[in-house]
Amino acid sequence: MAAPDHLRPSTLPEALEALKRPGARALAGGQALLPLLLDGSEQARSLVEIGHLAELRGLDRDEEAFFVGAGTRPVDVADTPVVWTLLPAFAEMAGAMGDPQFRNRATLGGALAENHPSSCWLAAALALEARIQTDRREFLAEEWTLGAFETPLEPGEALVGLRLRIPRRAGWARIRAGSGSGSPFPLASVFAVETREGAARLGVAGGRDGAFRWRAGEAALEESGFAPDSLAGLAPRSDGMSADERADAAHRALLAGRAAALAVARALEIRSAPGL
Ligand SMILES: Cc1cc2nc3c(=O)[nH]c(=O)nc-3n(C[C@H](O)[C@H](O)[C@H](O)COP(=O)(O)OP(=O)(O)OC[C@H]3O[C@@H](n4cnc5c(N)ncnc54)[C@H](O)[C@@H]3O)c2cc1C
Repeated sequence: MAAPDHLRPSTLPEALEALKRPGARALAGGQALLPLLLDGSEQARSLVEIGHLAELRGLDRDEEAFFVGAGTRPVDVADTPVVWTLLPAFAEMAGAMGDPQFRNRATLGGALAENHPSSCWLAAALALEARIQTDRREFLAEEWTLGAFETPLEPGEALVGLRLRIPRRAGWARIRAGSGSGSPFPLASVFAVETREGAARLGVAGGRDGAFRWRAGEAALEESGFAPDSLAGLAPRSDGMSADERADAAHRALLAGRAAALAVARALEIRSAPGL
């Protein structure tokens, strides 16, 4: 197949216009898309660069929430002091993902559009009551995953950003496979939140078709007043968990349960939103 045209619009409206071309694909950090184009498993007739667009970059906040633009990179989150003050677990997660090259190139929008089942961003979005915004619509994080690597995004539709509600406290923990496992993704990544109203939310990535909320774990936490010990011996159900050379389904479920307890313990160590 011929090499795709390469377009670098200067504004979001120009990018949206370019994305209407047949076979056009958005290109942000290229960390997921470029390898797939190179090995022929994905195709594009035009690549529309959007990661540099000012309208999609950066973080804003109001009393209740952060708005994170789709073009925001992990390094932008980790280098923003107010995130460390109000939502340190999110800054900690962004600063620990991948390697320095990845953190400087990959974007939040690319991760949401890719919707890898082990995406840390999606686990955080579920726990933080996120609203995912495109140029046309808004979704709850729970509405985002239609299956592994499948989302409601339509051709030509662009992700604009994510609105994350600032919780009373939050923690993130992951369990990684040993080096040489061949995948940059953790085996389990869990974002644990106690909302301002005292509800528990656990966003879990790794092991299923997409990131999911572990409701039984949330119920145990709420009953115990958010005690990590309440998750001892509990784990998400292993049926429906995937298996690969790194871990079988039962092991993945166990790891998700352990990562959840670690994330809750971490939430108790670090404070979000002073005064809440
Ligand atoms: C070395 C490495 C380490 C990693 N480590 C982790 C990790 O620790 N945790 C984790 O969760 N993930 C990890 N990832 C995955 C990573 O989060 C995603 O691959 C990455 O964020 C994709 O972003 P990108 O900007 O590079 O997307 P691209 O590769 O540019 O695009 C990916 C897809 O998204 C589409 N797209 C991009 N932006 C938009 C938009 N605004 N609107 C609509 N569609 C859009 C593209 O068309 C394409 O289909 C890792 C990946 C690598 C390569």
